[in-house]
Amino acid sequence: MPELPEVEVIRRELAPLVCGKEFAAPVIHFAGAVHYPAAEQFRRLLGGRRIRDLGRKGKYIFFLLDRGTLLAHLRMTGRLIYRAAGAIAAGDSTLQSKHLRLELLFAGGDALFFYDQRKFGGFWLLENPTEWEIAGLPRLGPDIWEEVDGPTFLALLQARPRARIKALLLDQGFVAGMGNIYTDESLFRSGIHPCRCVSTLSVKERENLYRAIREVLAEGIACGGTTTRDYLDARGSSGTFQERLAVYGCKGEPCSRCGRPVERTVTAGRGTYFCPCCQK
Ligand SMILES: [Zn+2]
Repeated sequence: MPELPEVEVIRRELAPLVCGKEFAAPVIHFAGAVHYPAAEQFRRLLGGRRIRDLGRKGKYIFFLLDRGTLLAHLRMTGRLIYRAAGAIAAGDSTLQSKHLRLELLFAGGDALFFYDQRKFGGFWLLENPTEWEIAGLPRLGPDIWEEVDGPTFLALLQARPRARIKALLLDQGFVAGMGNIYTDESLFRSGIHPCRCVSTLSVKERENLYRAIREVLAEGIACGGTTTRDYLDARGSSGTFQERLAVYGCKGEPCSRCGRPVERTVTAGRGTYFCPCCQK
């Protein structure tokens, strides 16, 4: 599932390609990929609007338009791939897939293709911030990469003493952007067991955790994201952070620090990887 680094990589790659471009009417292969408004209305309204800028909050991508905002969320398996008009005209066979849900076409012939195997991802076309509730934006906590510095992180933790740390980091209402992979890696690097209650964490551990989160997110972005199963960036390339994973997906493999086997448990309903020796 794309997490903050993957979405940020896509945003950075797409920005120079799409900013200033004007949408033509999109081709909708699967109406469920349009979350709001109704597919036909979406098709009619999007054409003619121009992209001013590209933003991100948590795992949402914002296409800031001359009128309104187009929001995208990739959920489990969504992919946004940019295609130049030439490749489309040449009938590049990689463009065709039964998972192609939406073709966001631009005036001039370039396009942004949205693929989504599991069909949970999709788009909202919102006219103004009063409609942001429709996409759940008001429930999002601050973006962990852009909006949370060390003191803010400590204050946020202080307010949630009874929460278990892994579940809390995954809660997008607490901070936006963390997912399973980067949470497990951050907890490993800071030596914190995923089931710990926030109230049991020392100040030192909280500071170490914040530092570890910044570290894994920065490395994730620099590596172009993590490709475990589905993720590809906006140019269709894989990320490489999976080569640096110390615990995520490593059940039974020796811990890089102590050599004992990495374990897998379930916390907050999610598969959770940790070293029982290095994470207290
Ligand atoms: Zn270990």
